[in-house]
Formats: sequence, structure tokens, C-alpha cells
Amino acid sequence: MEEIKIKPCPFCNEEFTVKETESGGFIARHENETCPMLTDGQNGYVYNDPDQLIKEYNTRPVEDALRARISKLEQELADAWRKAAELEGKYRDLLAAQKRARRAAEAAAAAGGEANNG
Ligand SMILES: [Zn+2]
Repeated sequence: MEEIKIKPCPFCNEEFTVKETESGGFIARHENETCPMLTDGQNGYVYNDPDQLIKEYNTRPVEDALRARISKLEQELADAWRKAAELEGKYRDLLAAQKRARRAAEAAAAAGGEANNG
């Protein structure tokens, strides 16, 4: 079974490590002392179950919502580019058809002129 990894700190992105306290509880710690996320064991929440600690530290509803939004917007952007490419293709087809029609009209006019002059 794959070990569930604790996500890095949401403030400084430094890796957490789960450590057992002297009283048998579990805390998540990192070494960044300038980070606003205090993990010194005095201010950090002590868990009885390390799996619960990891589960709660990995719960990031805002981050998850933003990732879902980004994914949706990336899909919409890809769809828009695909649609733009389709429209560009149709536009080029129309320009080519217009050019052919103009040439045919010019050829017909030239043939008509020759017939009238001949
Ligand atoms: Zn941090």
C-alpha cells in the first residue's frame, strides 16, 4: 500500500515531517522559522493518530477549488483555441472560394469580350 504523503506547507512550501512527541502524540514540523505557520509543537495541534494529522494537513479546500477552476478554465481555453482554428480554416476556405469565383467571373467576362470582339 502506498504511503500517503503530507503536502508541503501552504505558506512557505517547505516539506513537513511528522514527528512523535514525548507524550506519544504526533505533530507536523518544518524547519522554516520565518514561516507564519507555527509548528514548534507548543502552538501546533497535537494529534493522537498520524493518519488523521496527514489527512487534516492535506485538506486544502480553497486550493482544491482553485485547482478545479484552473482545470476548467484550461479546458475552456483549449476548446476556444480549437474553435478558433476551425473558424480560421473555414475563413481560408471562403477566401479560396471567393478567389476562384472572381477568377471564373474574370474568365467569363474575358471570353464574352472575345466573343463580342471576334
Ligand atoms: Zn511554512
